[in-house]
Amino acid sequence: MLPKYHFFAGIIISAILLLFFPSLRGIEILIIFLSSILLDIDHYFIFAKRSKKLGIKDNYNWGMQRRAEWDKLNANEKRKVKITHFYLHGIEFLVLLIVLSFFSVWVKYILFGAIIHLCFDYIEIIHKKDPLFIKFSQIYVGISNKHKKSMLCSYFFI
Ligand SMILES: [Zn+2]
Repeated sequence: MLPKYHFFAGIIISAILLLFFPSLRGIEILIIFLSSILLDIDHYFIFAKRSKKLGIKDNYNWGMQRRAEWDKLNANEKRKVKITHFYLHGIEFLVLLIVLSFFSVWVKYILFGAIIHLCFDYIEIIHKKDPLFIKFSQIYVGISNKHKKSMLCSYFFI
């Protein structure tokens, strides 16, 4: 999902949390809100590495071009191309956050924001009829990439 939609979704979810859980402090809501947006930071680092540019706008445009290439593929073609690892998107990162949340209550808020983020990503994945595993398990992405030949196109911004 595009960052602007994560931003608006984060605002709406944060407002709902404030409504139903008035005991939450502002800093806790802020952490949930920011982590629901900033989970896509892995996209930036991947784009920066591939495009060799550090500018946010350059990387956004570069990513949007790759996304447009991906969207042109049919379901069969999407199964044949290698999928980009988005390390913060998947069950592995969530398990790491769950483990860390036993040591810090703040990680629980990051975990909650990450879950919100992934829920909205999955809504778009389902809507576009893209493979669910792309943002479910990065280990599975690695396994499925082993027998694929090209990295002509990758999966971006969802
Ligand atoms: Zn995302």
